[in-house]
Amino acid sequence: MSTIDETNRPTEQETSAGQLRNYVGGKWRVVEGVEAIADVDPATGETVATVPLSGAAEVDAAVAAARAAQPGWREVPPQRRARAVLALREELLRRRQELTALVSADMGKTLPDADGEVGRGLESVESAAAVPHLLKGENLEGVAAGVDVESVRQPVGVVAAITPFNFPAMIPLWFLPYAIACGNSFILKPSEADPRPSGLIMEAVDAVGEIPPGVVNLVHGARDAVDGLLGHPGIDAISFVGQAKTARMVAERSVATGKRVQALGGAKNSLVVMPDADLEQAVPAIMGSAFGAAGQRCLAGSVAVVVGEPSRREEVRQALVAAASELRVGDGADAATDVCPLVSAAARERVAEAIGRAENDGAELLLDGRGDAGPAGTLLSPTIAVATDHESELAREELFGPLLTLVEVADLDAAIEFVNGSRYGNAGAIFTKSGEAARRYRHDAEAGMLGVNVGIPAPVAWFPFSGWKDSIDGDLHANGADAVRFYTRQKVVTSRW
Ligand code: NAD
Repeated sequence: MSTIDETNRPTEQETSAGQLRNYVGGKWRVVEGVEAIADVDPATGETVATVPLSGAAEVDAAVAAARAAQPGWREVPPQRRARAVLALREELLRRRQELTALVSADMGKTLPDADGEVGRGLESVESAAAVPHLLKGENLEGVAAGVDVESVRQPVGVVAAITPFNFPAMIPLWFLPYAIACGNSFILKPSEADPRPSGLIMEAVDAVGEIPPGVVNLVHGARDAVDGLLGHPGIDAISFVGQAKTARMVAERSVATGKRVQALGGAKNSLVVMPDADLEQAVPAIMGSAFGAAGQRCLAGSVAVVVGEPSRREEVRQALVAAASELRVGDGADAATDVCPLVSAAARERVAEAIGRAENDGAELLLDGRGDAGPAGTLLSPTIAVATDHESELAREELFGPLLTLVEVADLDAAIEFVNGSRYGNAGAIFTKSGEAARRYRHDAEAGMLGVNVGIPAPVAWFPFSGWKDSIDGDLHANGADAVRFYTRQKVVTSRW
């Protein structure tokens, strides 16, 4: 049932009836003649806005605006583009609390978690302000008599980002500031599940005089909008983050239409708990990694690989169950909540069904969170299950909920073999007091972001977000120097004078 309050809609991104507007060519556009879906608060089930499912016409308009703006924008000196990014940072900082509240209301995560997300997004903006340094080319003098060679970096052109629900502020900010700092114009297609943080980011862009109209654009929608972007000849590069199967489709279609692509996909991350690990340190870290944001993070440690004798395994089981039983499940806006709702009732149902299948297949359920689903059918309490089959769905597939799988093994060799048997390679961590074990893990684990006694090894924005294997299609990652390489083309000039 729609519960949009039609009074007091203060923001530009929405009509008075609560329909979200696209932002194209520096103007807010009401999208007419298309289906619109509800943006639902996962805690209450209330509709907080309606999202137009833009099609080809809206994509065409955004591409036309972006193409028109790009030649002028690439001529703006890099240091002035960096100043525009810094001005965007100021505007986002000024509206940080509002952005945090929208992230929590749209996606469901707790307010401290939402604030952390916004902080990480701001880090990307700060990192992008240093782009002129990374745009500098190279020069080799005298490769032949009177002949010099130099390389320069130029913008790719018009770039689009297609983003997921689970970080509705941070992930758009992984792409937007780098893309424009490199001299590109940019189109964002956020997740249709929680798009209002992207709208607020556009309001901030709009308030920054240094960013000309058309350099940054927003198109709301789902599959039709993505189809339009992937098929459009006016788009030169695609940045994507989402499920592995969508990432593969986006990568294949981008390549087929001659676009540069970085498509970040799913994950199933393992946390190795060595026999010497300090459980007072490791257990809270595992709780945060497995159950924070209700397990809906691409860096979630969804498997604990417990190394040791049966008595040690039992000790770890008991410590994890005791800690998880203490966690409070509820509305992300409630300060007492540790574990937020899932993004939708359908998502909650999918995870509950996977728990049922695991149970039927012989997994040992130590903690079963399938109790009261709450007012919106979205709550799931922390669940811990021991995988007897180490190749089961429970142990190998991304299930994206507050579900921690235990895989029990005898030694580090077996732990690393399990870790490396995953099709994914986003992240992982080891908990140990042994430098030797940590060094071995760091050297041999096949994942791109590793933690040593750190449960969520999210790199700061000056490093790339460097997943491996099926966690990315494409070679260049988001953030850091990789972002600059992705958003620029090199030109090598050989001169004789
Ligand atoms: P998703 O794939 O369902 O959606 C991502 C985007 O693609 C959305 O904008 C959506 O509108 C669009 N989309 C979805 N299905 C489509 C289709 N069939 N055709 C065209 N467009 C389509 O992903 P999600 O559920 O929103 O996000 C969660 C996923 O993202 C998880 O798998 C998580 O691991 C992954 N993720 C990965 C990283 C990483 O760095 N590797 C980071 C964050 C999230």
